[in-house]
Amino acid sequence: MQHLTSELDKNAVLKAIRSCLPPDRMTVELHEPFFSGNEWRYVKECLDTNWVSSSGKFVDAFERKLAEFTGAKRAFAVVNGTAALHISLKMAGVDMNDEVLVPDLTFVATANAVTYCGAIPHFIDCEERTLGIDAKLLNSYLKNITELRENGCFNKITGRKIKVLIAMHTFGHPTDLEPLAATCKHYHLTLIEDAAEALGSYYKSKHVGNWGQFSILSFNGNKTITTGGGGAILTNDEALGVRAKHIATTAKLSHPWAFNHDEIGYNYRMPNINAALGVAQMEKLPEYLKRKRALALRYKEAFADLAGVTFFEEPAFAKSSYWLNAILLDKELKGELDPLLKYLTENGIKSRPVWTLMHKLAMYRDCPRMDISVAEDIESRLINIPSSAFL
Ligand SMILES: *Cc1c(COP(=O)(O)O)cnc(C)c1O
Repeated sequence: MQHLTSELDKNAVLKAIRSCLPPDRMTVELHEPFFSGNEWRYVKECLDTNWVSSSGKFVDAFERKLAEFTGAKRAFAVVNGTAALHISLKMAGVDMNDEVLVPDLTFVATANAVTYCGAIPHFIDCEERTLGIDAKLLNSYLKNITELRENGCFNKITGRKIKVLIAMHTFGHPTDLEPLAATCKHYHLTLIEDAAEALGSYYKSKHVGNWGQFSILSFNGNKTITTGGGGAILTNDEALGVRAKHIATTAKLSHPWAFNHDEIGYNYRMPNINAALGVAQMEKLPEYLKRKRALALRYKEAFADLAGVTFFEEPAFAKSSYWLNAILLDKELKGELDPLLKYLTENGIKSRPVWTLMHKLAMYRDCPRMDISVAEDIESRLINIPSSAFL
C-alpha cells in the first residue's frame, strides 16, 4: 500500500535499494558489463587466427543468434546502435528537410541519427504507463497539424514532409506498439523501433523489433549484453535487409579482387573481434535476463510498502528486459529528486535521473514538438537505480 507523505525518507530508500543488492559491494554502479562465459576463448580465437576485422565467422554467428532470438528474419551487426539508426532512417528514405517523429524522452542518439540524414526531429510526448510514445496524444496532435496528401503526410505548419516515426522501448519496457503501428499506417509513416534497450523484451508474447520496417539494438558497454561497442539492425524484409547491409559495408560490390562501389555507403560493419564477445554474451543472455528479472522483483517487493516512491513495473501487455530499473517519486515529492540523487550517490549507490529531454538540449531547442507535459513530469520524478545482471 502506498501512503501519501510530504517528506521523503531518503534513508529508507537507500535501505530498500541496499536490501536488494549483494551486501559485500560498497559502491554499486548503475550498469556494468558481465563476462561469465566464452568471451576470453572467442576473442583469443580471433587473435590466434588473425580474423579481427570486418568479416569473420563470429559476425555471421552473432547475426544468426540475434535473428533466432528476436524472431526477426535478418539481423546485421554494425559498429553501434546510432549507426544502426542512421542506416534504418536512410533505408526508410529519410532525406534533407524531412521530419521524423521522435520521442522527447529518449537517449540523444535517436534524435542525432535523424539529424545525420539532414532531417529534423519532431518531438512527441510519452505516457506514464510505458514511458514510450503516447499513441492517443500523438493521434490527436497529428490530426491537428498534418495534412494527408497523395504523396504522404505533411506538417501544415512547417510545410515539411513527415516520413518516419521512431518508437523507443524505454529502459526495456515495451512501448504500446499496436496503436503506434496503426497510426503509422493511417498517416503513411514508416515505423522504426529503437530497441537499443530492449533485447529480451516482449510485446504481447512476441519479441520487440518485429513491428517496425527496421529495428535497432545496441551492445554498448552499459546495455544488457555488450560487444564493447556495437549495434544491430533487425528486419523482416529480406530485400531491404540486403540493401541495408550493402550500404553499411561501403556499398562495395562483391567481387574476388575488384573494388567497386555503386553508391555512397558507410563503413559501419561490426568487426569480428567485437562479434566474438557478442556470441559469448548471447550464449548467456537467457541467464542474464533471468537475473535482471529477479533483481526487478526484489526491488518491487522492497518498494511495495515505502511511502512516496513507486517502483516502475513493466506494462501489463509486455515482458520487459528490465534493462535499467527505475523508481518514481510521488508528484508532491519532486523537490526531493536532486537531494535523493545526491544522498544515494554519496552512499555508494550510483543512480541518475532520466536523460535531459530532447527539446531542452541546445541543438534541438527550436525543433517542432507537441506539448511535452508528461515527459516533463516524469523527468522531475524518475531515478534509475543499479541494474547489472550480476547483482
Ligand atoms: C544506447 C542507445 C542508443 C545508441 O546506441 P549506441 O550503441 O550507444 O550508439 C540509441 N537509442 C537508445 C534509446 C539507447 O539507449
